[in-house]
Amino acid sequence: MPFTIHGLPVSQGIAIGHVHLVSHAMLEVNHYHVAAKYLPEEVERLNEAVATVQGELVGLKAAATAGQPHSEVGAFVDLQLMMLGDPMLIDGARTLIAERRCNAEWALVQQMEMVVEQFEQIEDPYLRERKADVVQVIERIVKVLLGHPGHLPPKRRDGLGTIIVAHDLSPADTIGFRDHNIGGFVTDVGGPTSHTAIVARSLRIPAVVGLHHIRQLVEEDELLIIDGTRGVVIVAPDERIVEEYRLRRSELELERSKLNRLKDTPATTLDGEDVKMLANIEGPKDLNQVKAVNADGVGLYRTEFLFIGRDSLPDEDEQYEAYRTVLKSLAGKPVTIRTFDVGADKALNGVSARFEPNPALGLRAIRYSLAEPQMFLTQLRALLRASVHGKLRIMIPMLAHAHEIDQSLQLIAKAKAELDAEGLKYDPRVEIGGMIEVPAAALALGMFIRRLSFLSIGTNDLIQYTLAIDRSDEAVVHLYDPLHPAVLKLIAGTIQAGARFGLPVSVCGEMAGDPAYTLLLLGMGLRNFSMHPGHILEIKQQVLRADLNELAPRVQRILKMDEQAKVRDAVMRLAG
Ligand code: PEP
Ligand code: MG
Repeated sequence: MPFTIHGLPVSQGIAIGHVHLVSHAMLEVNHYHVAAKYLPEEVERLNEAVATVQGELVGLKAAATAGQPHSEVGAFVDLQLMMLGDPMLIDGARTLIAERRCNAEWALVQQMEMVVEQFEQIEDPYLRERKADVVQVIERIVKVLLGHPGHLPPKRRDGLGTIIVAHDLSPADTIGFRDHNIGGFVTDVGGPTSHTAIVARSLRIPAVVGLHHIRQLVEEDELLIIDGTRGVVIVAPDERIVEEYRLRRSELELERSKLNRLKDTPATTLDGEDVKMLANIEGPKDLNQVKAVNADGVGLYRTEFLFIGRDSLPDEDEQYEAYRTVLKSLAGKPVTIRTFDVGADKALNGVSARFEPNPALGLRAIRYSLAEPQMFLTQLRALLRASVHGKLRIMIPMLAHAHEIDQSLQLIAKAKAELDAEGLKYDPRVEIGGMIEVPAAALALGMFIRRLSFLSIGTNDLIQYTLAIDRSDEAVVHLYDPLHPAVLKLIAGTIQAGARFGLPVSVCGEMAGDPAYTLLLLGMGLRNFSMHPGHILEIKQQVLRADLNELAPRVQRILKMDEQAKVRDAVMRLAG
């Protein structure tokens, strides 16, 4: 029987394919049924793996605590050994194997997630974070069971894609989909501005998140339809429904091809104001899409995607090649390359930072780069060397303090001096700008305006930090509101300050690519929109229909409102 589940639409389009169940973001395990007569063997397999890990941990402890009986490592190992003996965890998995007739690794991960959920309810922050130990210990057992790390299924031969069904996915997992003919993905958790969602849009993979218990509701290999535009997932559709969605998919393609007619039309409002339509990219792979919509340049190149999902940092030459390719391809149009925004959910070396106390408030973006000056200097040298191939602008993410800019400028000067000494060329006119993503920055713009040549508002983070809502946490996603009066004041204030001091300001967060906010942003005075290239033509269509003389006073009135419902209503009426 077909049935429908509703979630949050995060990446448009329709995907029809077969389910591949993926377990926890850090553990990819398959799910399969085990015949009743083999169940004792399956439990024995689990017992042996647990015994192996016990042995490993005891050995680890002996090595780590040699000569220092109270070492912290020893305490952690003890904790993990205790968890191995915890009836909730391993006995629970044994029961699941018998009850669900499933494989040991799947049972273990199910049980782990149940226990992790219980940890999440604990008030004491230290004890709550011990869920990381639960995950680690289960990971060890799963690795022993598998004998190798998990992997994605091979490409299907029936022309249908694979649909990944997961509890959660990291941006690195999502990037891995590129080579595996993944048609789409759905997850239990996640929000529309999480980096995983952004990567899905970039890969043009339809995706729906925030489905709560989707993994319990579908089976491996079952047929599934994702409607990533409406946030709907249809499980086990019959032939009639599949046909209907095939038709809808063709209609969507037709609509897109109609928008294509706007490709070479300049984005000018009815009253003659020019608006720049810039693209957000993650690397040279996105250049075809940028060309396809004839963007006015790149407003945000998220360089951290150069190394997400791999084990080593790209060296200077590899970075130089990537930056040069983008600059050359844009042939003189501005290319704004953001220095690494490492940290939070975009962790280095595939190591997830999600179990750190507060990854979003931690060592992220410019903070990370300044803590790793050699890595930062390497990037700056690569950027400067590439600058001779086009119109480069360097952008620094997540600024909050003047000294962060000063230190960055010093490192840029150092990179230039090194290149001079080595006789390597760079463009001395490269502009340095910064992102306004922290409320403190939006409220103390003077120090940024004095030091920088342009600003770009990262609304994804600005909203996250203003409203204290983790953008990747589905439990609070309903509180993530771009129309909160406080958020609008910070955005409008930044745009107005830029205009007053003659500093170009853009918006490069997801708000810029959402047609619901185009008129509002235009009315605030925004003239530079940067978004995923897939949204450019739709937003351009809005710009072409806008009359700023009429919009500006209405938006000024909206900015004085302090009730969210009234703001929402007034913003909807802007289009009417
Ligand atoms: C933002 O925060 O709005 C932004 C564009 O940066 P990122 O989404 O990469 O954090
Ligand atoms: Mg950001």
